[in-house]
Amino acid sequence: MAGSPSVGIVEDPRYRDHVGPAGHPERPERLVAVSDAIAARGDSLQRLAPRAATPDEILRVHDPSHLAALERAAQQAPVRLDPDTYLGTDSLEVAQLAAGAAVDLVRAVCRRDLDTGLAAIRPPGHHAEHDRAMGFCLLNNVAIAARAAQAEEGVDKILILDWDVHHGNGTQHSFEEDPSILYASTHQFPFYPGTGDFGEAGRGRGLGTTVNVPLPAGCGDAEYTAVAQRVLAPVARSYRPDLIIVSCGFDAHRDDPLAAMQLSGEGFRILSRVVRGLAEELCGGRLVLLLEGGYALSGLREGTSAVLDVLLDPDPGALDEAPVVPGTHIQQVLDRVHQVHARNFSGLSAL
Ligand SMILES: [Zn+2]
Repeated sequence: MAGSPSVGIVEDPRYRDHVGPAGHPERPERLVAVSDAIAARGDSLQRLAPRAATPDEILRVHDPSHLAALERAAQQAPVRLDPDTYLGTDSLEVAQLAAGAAVDLVRAVCRRDLDTGLAAIRPPGHHAEHDRAMGFCLLNNVAIAARAAQAEEGVDKILILDWDVHHGNGTQHSFEEDPSILYASTHQFPFYPGTGDFGEAGRGRGLGTTVNVPLPAGCGDAEYTAVAQRVLAPVARSYRPDLIIVSCGFDAHRDDPLAAMQLSGEGFRILSRVVRGLAEELCGGRLVLLLEGGYALSGLREGTSAVLDVLLDPDPGALDEAPVVPGTHIQQVLDRVHQVHARNFSGLSAL
């Protein structure tokens, strides 16, 4: 890519208007930390103003009954939709702004108005099922954006890579029968929400285009690098997507209060370099990252900085493949993924 990349950013104070009970980890202050990292690079980013997703965009993914239930709940706000998930007086409007921004950022990258982009949105989306809110999530932003890219921009195949520390059950269920969207997830396991075991590999025509990499607690930069280089990269090269969207949670950071992984800011930099390299190699650089979880302010700040540094780098270069020590728990994870998916992805046979 010649010259400085054109990197889009979605950031808006209205995303802080989704306000829940005191002490809830999915809180507006998360975006203060993200904004610190954005402000440090402010002039080099292209700002996109968010607008609300339309019902048509939302209903490509969600059941009409879900949208109706959210609208009813908004009349009674503040309410809890499940033990973890709240809806405040402005929450539905903010969720629609999150989904709409995800759509617009993805469409701008598809049209090459931007090279890449990051949407600093909340509430997160990947736990939201087609017919219900779940796990802090009201609307499934990444799923809505992926369907918009296919419906409005003529994109054929999409890779959704979910490195949030939780499994994106809602995204998996949205696309598990659809081979045109490959959902690949790294997540702590066993852990909330309970889905995402190795054998969940898609269904029907979509068999093989769901790739789960459940990881034991305690994994850090070395383990995530091994998975990125030895699973995600060969899977992406075999699949050959036209667009890559990342469900970009920062809750695998070592400071995160909800999870027990050990990624550093440098680990998020490595993951970002791998996905940017894959996007340039496979799909003309088309790459969008959408914020999901992340509950330590330090993790949000370091993760956002890492992502933006890599997106803004005119030439991040290729990473050398890191060695994996035989017999370690990460080697066992790689072996299990290989057992399930070697027949689906030719590149995995070389693990
Ligand atoms: Zn999460």
